[in-house]
Amino acid sequence: MTVDQLETLLAEVSLPRGVHAAVLSDSAGPTDVWCPRIVVWANRSHSRCPGCGQPVAQDLSQDVPVSLNRGELQPYSQQHPCGEWLSILWSEVSGTGEVTVVDVERAAHQLAAEVDNEHVRLRAAVEAQLRQDLKQALQRLAEPLAHQETREDREDEVRTGSDVEPGVYRGEQWLAWAFDPTGISSEPITVTERNLATARS
Ligand SMILES: [Zn+2]
Repeated sequence: MTVDQLETLLAEVSLPRGVHAAVLSDSAGPTDVWCPRIVVWANRSHSRCPGCGQPVAQDLSQDVPVSLNRGELQPYSQQHPCGEWLSILWSEVSGTGEVTVVDVERAAHQLAAEVDNEHVRLRAAVEAQLRQDLKQALQRLAEPLAHQETREDREDEVRTGSDVEPGVYRGEQWLAWAFDPTGISSEPITVTERNLATARS
């Protein structure tokens, strides 16, 4: 199929939210030698670089993550200036014969499902870390005070956040919280003393 035919086909495709598609033609030569291809890719799952914590662009609608060169799909570098490799989910659309609208939609939905799984994994990892942090803080709070140490000193020692800064702090009860790593929900992830107690019993 020609680039124009594939572009026409893509125009008919309805993509899940956060998933994009593009026709790639070969940068190395005439497209009658190297067949054009369709790739689908997803927005970035992280709102911040996992390496350095800096915010990263999540909307990748304008950033095709691969190029086509002599018939080979080559991913562009996704290395953040800090050295961390930022993951991008993408795949090539393949069909049994000529690519159809259904083939593109199937690939796009598969990718969307992978993105959902990744979001669940990322949130679970943050929650596990929060549990760990809060547990350690509570253990330290339960230890006897040293000579001349006040209760307040001890609480200052374990406090790493506040109601606006992520970390461990005491509201109505001790809790640890963090922003949603996927940036999708404005609802933070929170683990409270009570959550830990419930998990234990
Ligand atoms: Zn970084």
